[in-house]
Amino acid sequence: MLHGKTALVTGSTSGIGLGIAKALARQGAHIVLNGFGDADGPRAEVLAAGEQHGVRVAYHGADMGRPAEIEDLLRYAAEQFGRVDILVNNAGIQHVASVQDFPVEKWDAIIAINLTSAFHTTRLALPGMLAAGWGRIINVASVHGLVASAQKSAYVAAKHGIVGLTKVTALETATTGVTCNAICPGWVLTPLVQKQVDAKAAEHGLDNEGAKRLLLGEKEPSMQFTTPEELGELAVFFCSPAGNNVRGVAWNMDGGWAAQ
Ligand code: NAD
Repeated sequence: MLHGKTALVTGSTSGIGLGIAKALARQGAHIVLNGFGDADGPRAEVLAAGEQHGVRVAYHGADMGRPAEIEDLLRYAAEQFGRVDILVNNAGIQHVASVQDFPVEKWDAIIAINLTSAFHTTRLALPGMLAAGWGRIINVASVHGLVASAQKSAYVAAKHGIVGLTKVTALETATTGVTCNAICPGWVLTPLVQKQVDAKAAEHGLDNEGAKRLLLGEKEPSMQFTTPEELGELAVFFCSPAGNNVRGVAWNMDGGWAAQ
C-alpha cells in the first residue's frame, strides 16, 4: 500500500516508534529511523519487516531537542529518498515530579523534544508533501494530551500542545492531500513506562508483575497495555485511502482511560 513512499519516524530506535516504523515498512514504505542508542538492531528489524517490498532503511541520530539537528535530519531524509511522505513525530521523554519541584532543565527538554520538535519537522516536511499532493503527519501524543495526571506537568503540557498543533496543521491542510492526526496511547510497556513500573515496585515493595497491575489499575480499565504493534496498525490506517478525510483527530488507544 505504501510502496514508493518514505516515512520518517522520530524516536524509532525503541518502543512505539520502532513498532510504527515496522508497520509502515510492512506496507512497503522506505524508512528513516532516528533516535539514540543502538541503531543496528532496529535497522535490522525494520529491514526484515519490509523485506518482501525491498524496503530501504536509513538512520540519522539527530537530537530532537536541537532545531539545527532537526534541519539536518530533514535534509538527510530528502537526500536519501527525495522527500518525506509520512512524518511520524514520536520522540519523547518523561519526568515525574510535582510542579514546585520540577527541574527547570527537564521542563525545557520535555517541551523541546515532545512538542517543539514536531513544529520543526512539520514546517520542514510540509512544503514537499503539499508539492506532491499527498502526505501524512502522525503525531504520537498520549492520553495525556486529553487528560492530566499529577506529577507530569511538562509532559501533559507538551502532549496537550501537540494535540493543538495537530488540529491547526489539519485545518491549514484541510483542502489538500495532506492529513494530520494524533495518536493518544494509554500505557504501553516500553522502556519509558518500565521506569515508572520500577518506581512503583520500589515505592510499594512489589515485584514487577504486581507493580504493572498497580500501574494499570490506577488508570486503564482494560488492565491491558496497548502494544507498539497495535499503534503501528493505527498509523497504517491513517496512511490508507480510508484515512483520506480523517483530519485533526486525537485518537485514543487507551483501554478506556479517557472514557472515565
Ligand atoms: P521509548 O523510551 O521506548 O522510546 C523513545 C524513543 O525516543 C527512543 O528511540 C529514544 O532514543 C528517542 N529519543 C529520546 N529522546 C530523544 C531525542 N532528544 N532525540 C531523538 N530521539 C530521542 O518510549 P516510548 O514509550 O516508545 O515513547 C514514544 C512516544 O510515545 C513518546 O512521545 C511518548 O510520550 C509516547 N507515549 C508513550 C506511552 C507509553 O505508555 N509508553 C504512552 C503514551 C504516549
